[in-house]
Amino acid sequence: MRVAILSDIHGNLEALEAVLADARELGYDRLVCLGDIVGYGADPEECVLRIRESAWSDEIGLVVVQGNHDAAVAGGDDRYFNPDARRAVGWTRDNLSPQSIEWLGRLPLEKRFESMYFVHSSPFEPAEWNYVTTMNEAWAAFQYFPEQLGFIGHSHVPFSVSLDADQTRIQVEPDDEIHLHPGSRYLTNVGSVGQPRDSDPRACYIICDDALGLIERRRVEYDIESAAEKIRTAGLPAFLADRLSKGR
Ligand code: ZN
Repeated sequence: MRVAILSDIHGNLEALEAVLADARELGYDRLVCLGDIVGYGADPEECVLRIRESAWSDEIGLVVVQGNHDAAVAGGDDRYFNPDARRAVGWTRDNLSPQSIEWLGRLPLEKRFESMYFVHSSPFEPAEWNYVTTMNEAWAAFQYFPEQLGFIGHSHVPFSVSLDADQTRIQVEPDDEIHLHPGSRYLTNVGSVGQPRDSDPRACYIICDDALGLIERRRVEYDIESAAEKIRTAGLPAFLADRLSKGR
């Protein structure tokens, strides 16, 4: 099965549409979203609707997990947000339908299917919105899900690490194409569709093909200037527009 895995769209419709077009061109069976559909960008409602109609929906339900911005918009805690992010939360709430707010509030924190595990922040405390950024944190994360493949978002910085069969050697997988080793396990941050922060402004997502044993990281050009202009016009903090072209 080929699964397209997207995270951290952040209301950036231009980036989301470019990613969906790229994934359609490559071909996929299922689409999974790891949360933060909204917050920062100017098209939260459109992004929610696009994900709701595109994401994987079958016996395990719609495979979308909740991000911290989704939770905050739906009435959760935003005390730890910086002032720009908190302003964006209020703006986003005012620009979403009640149905979409309710839907965001009901999203689960984790989902699993066969060999894959999905969470927005960390497998150890999904509701605490911790980051997994160091090798120690990645090693700890592996202890909290039994599946071969774990997928996370949240930091907007893509990476993959593997843990070998006897669970002793953990290493970074630096390539954009990872050929899966049957005994090894993998933890992948799928990066951000709508606000990459690894200095590459292109939209980022993952295609995972479990039959081919392949995880492929994709980078997709999109109309950054249009997305930025909409943020400025909406009266959202200008910093949120400026950072898109920097990938920071
Ligand atoms: Zn995010």
